[in-house]
Amino acid sequence: MHNNEVKAYIGIGSNLADPQQQVVDVLPHLNQIRETRLISHSSLYQSAAVSDIPQEDYINAIACLATRLQPMALLLELQSIEYAFYRQRSDDLKWAPRTMDLDIILFGNIQQKDSHLSIPHVEMQNRLFVLQPLQEVAGNIYIPGLGSLSYLIQQAPDLRINRLEFAKN
Ligand code: ATP
Ligand code: CA
Ligand code: CA
Repeated sequence: MHNNEVKAYIGIGSNLADPQQQVVDVLPHLNQIRETRLISHSSLYQSAAVSDIPQEDYINAIACLATRLQPMALLLELQSIEYAFYRQRSDDLKWAPRTMDLDIILFGNIQQKDSHLSIPHVEMQNRLFVLQPLQEVAGNIYIPGLGSLSYLIQQAPDLRINRLEFAKN
């Protein structure tokens, strides 16, 4: 890690339009964010969508970034990448299918909760598709306010999740 850099873990999710390829393709975009570099990423994981709306399985992964941006500035960069991947937002559909979802899961040891940004991500402890790839890239880290990652994995609701071989470009 260089001067003033903080490690941020980003949750990547897609379930539309060749999701495996979308997740692989977004990695270089993460590396191109200003003041930021991609350090590592997990394998791809496949899981059933958590939604009342019938939809394709999700592909998820975690990327580890080193950044000098503030959390909100990083979120805005992530949202502009989501739009570049043609994400359609719909106000009436919560958890609708999407081509690209980029969430800040952890940002250093920061704990914050406001209307635009909650860190750690508020649902992370309920989502094995976040916890498992996070453990793959970060090991058994301590999650601010929540406990050790291996403890969270033990406690998490049992979701059907499959680790895929990482498809290289
Ligand atoms: P979920 O939050 O349950 O994963 P989602 O990813 O589908 O749902 P979005 O529609 O992508 O939700 O985002 C809604 C809002 O969540 C964003 O506009 C953003 O302001 C806010 N938000 C709060 N905390 C975070 C975070 N840690 N990472 C990304 N967005 C966040
Ligand atoms: Ca999300
Ligand atoms: Ca999101």
